[in-house]
Amino acid sequence: MLQSLKWIYLRHLLVLGVSLCLLAYGVWGLVADTIVQPQGAAGTQIADALTSVPVPAPSAADSASDTMPLLYIALIIASMLMIITSTVNLYVRSVRYVRHDIESLVRMFHDIHDGHIRVDYPMLLSEFSGIFRFLRSSGTQMMEEKRQFKEMGLIDHLSQLHNRRHFEKRLEDLYNNAKINGPSSVLIIDVDHFKRVNDEHGHDVGDALIVGFADAMRRVVRKTDILARLGGDEFCVIYTYTGLDKARELVDRLRRELPRHIPLPKGIVHALRWTGGLSAMHSSDNKFDAVLWRADQALLEAKEHGRNNTRIYPNPQPVTKK
Ligand code: GH3
Ligand code: MG
Repeated sequence: MLQSLKWIYLRHLLVLGVSLCLLAYGVWGLVADTIVQPQGAAGTQIADALTSVPVPAPSAADSASDTMPLLYIALIIASMLMIITSTVNLYVRSVRYVRHDIESLVRMFHDIHDGHIRVDYPMLLSEFSGIFRFLRSSGTQMMEEKRQFKEMGLIDHLSQLHNRRHFEKRLEDLYNNAKINGPSSVLIIDVDHFKRVNDEHGHDVGDALIVGFADAMRRVVRKTDILARLGGDEFCVIYTYTGLDKARELVDRLRRELPRHIPLPKGIVHALRWTGGLSAMHSSDNKFDAVLWRADQALLEAKEHGRNNTRIYPNPQPVTKK
């Protein structure tokens, strides 16, 4: 028996008990009136005939006894109606409660599938609420894992910075908004002589340098800017809605504030050197990554000019706000 329907069951039992008593009483009364009573009356008539005593006129008590069978029949019908009504009511309520909770369950599965789980799913049957809590928390966990997997497609596994895919998406968004919110600037960074670290100390130490450099950058770059690893030892900062002049200041600050040395495994301390190429979006750009190409040109120029410095690609037509 479902505990949450306990009171409905009890009320049904009570109604059933009373109805059965009334039914039994009605049946018993009817039987006694229509079967036993006429026999008694016939006996009386025979006795009367034998003693030749005239039959008395029907009294008020006799006429009352005539209506009794009707009352018993009414009682039988009423008690049967009570039994039927109570049983139907019990059935309808049980079905409604179970259906309501099944619908909640179905709604929850649809929500998990669509990735929008609700705060609550009302339950009518308390027996199901534990199961529902478990399913809801499993569903939330599943959704969180799904979100993380999605995000993993946009995050570089080694540095934990945004990857190239995410970087390009953000760059495109900023390019599309440049006319309204102003231009953004892009700095490409390449670690100097990174290959030597790999060659001299091994790939795992090279990996540690990538991680250490990414962590150091994360501490210095503004939260509103976008930091990504484009691949290998190449990183990028998008200074969002920041023109070239301000971006130049920020690059200077980056060079000042990044550590001179990065501690690596095996007790190695690496003297950090990096080269940068900076450029800003401008109004003549007809592709979102035109700025990236210019920053890359500036980087090549900086590499050619001895590394460990930043070059800026000329920006003759700065983007103007609307
Ligand atoms: P430059 O000063 O001109 O920048 O030269 P470089 O020595 O830094 O060499 P370059 O940038 O041309 O090459 C980067 C090297 O990084 C090549 C590749 O073997 C190595 N590399 C690429 N991805 C990874 C990685 O995930 N981990 C490690 N440890 N090495 C990587
Ligand atoms: Mg390099």
